[in-house]
Amino acid sequence: MQKFKTKSAKALLLSVSAFALVFGGCNAADTKTDTPKAHVEEMAQKTANHDKFTFANYDEIRVTHLDLNLDVKFDEKVLDGIATLDFKRVLQDANVLVLDSRDLLIKAVSVADKNGEWVPAAYTLGESDPALGSALTIQVGDSAKKVRIAYRTSPEAEGLQWLPPEQTAGKKHPYLFSQAQALNARTMAPLQDTPAVRITYTATLRTPPELLALMSAEQDGGPLDGEYSFNMPQPIPSYLLAIVVGDIKFKAINDHIGVYAEQYILDASAAEFEDTPLMEDSNAKLYGPYRWGRYDLIVLPPSFPFGGMENPRLSFMTPTLIAGDKSLTNVVAHELAHSWSGNLVTNSNWRDAWLNEGFTSYVENRVMEDLYGEDRAVMEQALGLEDLKRDIAGAERPELTQLKLPADIAHPDEAFSQVAYVKGQFFLMFLEERFGRDNFDAFLKEYFNHFAFQSITTEDFITYLHDELHVKNPKALTKAELHEWVYMPGLPKSAKNPQSDAFKNVSAQQADWLKGDIAAKGIKTADWSTHEWLHFLNTLPELSQAQYKELDTAFSLTGTQNAETAFAWYMQTIKGGYAPAMGELENFLMSVGRGKFIYRLYGALAESKDGKVWAQDVFSRAKSGYHPIAQRRISEGFEAK
Ligand SMILES: [Zn+2]
Repeated sequence: MQKFKTKSAKALLLSVSAFALVFGGCNAADTKTDTPKAHVEEMAQKTANHDKFTFANYDEIRVTHLDLNLDVKFDEKVLDGIATLDFKRVLQDANVLVLDSRDLLIKAVSVADKNGEWVPAAYTLGESDPALGSALTIQVGDSAKKVRIAYRTSPEAEGLQWLPPEQTAGKKHPYLFSQAQALNARTMAPLQDTPAVRITYTATLRTPPELLALMSAEQDGGPLDGEYSFNMPQPIPSYLLAIVVGDIKFKAINDHIGVYAEQYILDASAAEFEDTPLMEDSNAKLYGPYRWGRYDLIVLPPSFPFGGMENPRLSFMTPTLIAGDKSLTNVVAHELAHSWSGNLVTNSNWRDAWLNEGFTSYVENRVMEDLYGEDRAVMEQALGLEDLKRDIAGAERPELTQLKLPADIAHPDEAFSQVAYVKGQFFLMFLEERFGRDNFDAFLKEYFNHFAFQSITTEDFITYLHDELHVKNPKALTKAELHEWVYMPGLPKSAKNPQSDAFKNVSAQQADWLKGDIAAKGIKTADWSTHEWLHFLNTLPELSQAQYKELDTAFSLTGTQNAETAFAWYMQTIKGGYAPAMGELENFLMSVGRGKFIYRLYGALAESKDGKVWAQDVFSRAKSGYHPIAQRRISEGFEAK
């Protein structure tokens, strides 16, 4: 059974009434909010915004710095060593430090006494919850400021994937990479695993000498010698803690941007991502300087379950982006944009995930427009909107389509639907339209500066929007409109409907082909980008077997090397039961571990006639190549269907 700390409906009501309080100030006739009732509601709001996915007592005592000193043991699939944490008291009489841990073996705990001597400390490990892990409660007394924990991780740690040599491209060396977001930093180290708490960190990793270790920090930069040290001087939330160890090479793009990858894909990756410096310039021009020193990318093995992960200074990327034509590099723009939205200004609670992902999707799209023109930006908006509408229609309950998620979400995974990304983006596009681009750009630039290196809530953003933009332009939008966007389900009517001329042309040709006016090979696809192909494939109705065959023969869709196009095609062939695609679909599922693709493919198969048994068989063979997060989510999906 899962134990969570806050109650649902009441907390939601409180968050809405706090909104009314803040934005009530938009009405000229509004009264002062400095009343006892307002104070009570503000306090209630703080409670409602407490992160329930952590055991940490961060309102009483806060970790400020983490030092890791770890052996990376590939033979046992564990990290083994010492975590030293600095902390400060929020409440002066706090004498207990509560940390998150999951599947960690705690060997010893000590605190530094007045003289800096380490003395053993009493601690308890709480009952284990399947998602949250166990509370590690340490008696720190009233003067200690440091705690030292000897521990080791579990081979089953969900945040760490240990790949044997045969699952790497080079096949000679093992590989390790981490994925801490959302609740998995606690499977790597004992810490306060909530985005509300920010820490700096240092680390020393010992590895087999032939392997390179990297972290989301200033890199060691030294020779391959089996010992690497790292420093992250900017305070980050725990979910940005990241480790990679493997037979990894580096290629520079410019003096402070480069790509890490296995040798086989290094040159192709550097070529695919060569526009990254332009993206950084564009981002900095719009939203202020890049504040993290270097920016590198690492292309991970295919089991990496995401398109990208915005680990600071070192974005993790899926190899499925290497399409050969830079058509999928909006994901680079996305991860880079997180250096402002998410990493610099962070959601303090997973209920506010749109503050990370909606802002980032908006910034990503502005950068794509700046570099590649409005047509491409509009196509990407339109594709995003198609995905959003699908997620809204398929939501398990309407509350999950609100930007501010309800207090009773069961797991942060629920916060990462297209609602946070695309609805959040379209909300900011709406604000941009209402306030004017120049005003809104200046506002956002100052927003990133004002809240730099802080973790904030939706309500903090709304207050800031009110104070800095709305009071100066009171007619730009109404309280009701804002409320609808943030606290109500679905997509408001005031959302932009992006119109792409390129997509209109695609749709017109698609209609001609469906009517039988032209043959498939008569569709003029020579100039189509991946975007146009996705629009064409995603909007197909269920076809006859002859029609699938005609398309497949004309365009060799089955087995295409572009992962996005392949995914869109297989979703259609599953819907229509087109058997000739199954062999290549199986190859795709056996070789790609990116969740965006495989969750929906397995989901569609499980719902299709005869598909579930086939899918379970493929999954049983593909599973060992998937990340533990993906294994869990797909297994849960089969159980639910
Ligand atoms: Zn993101």
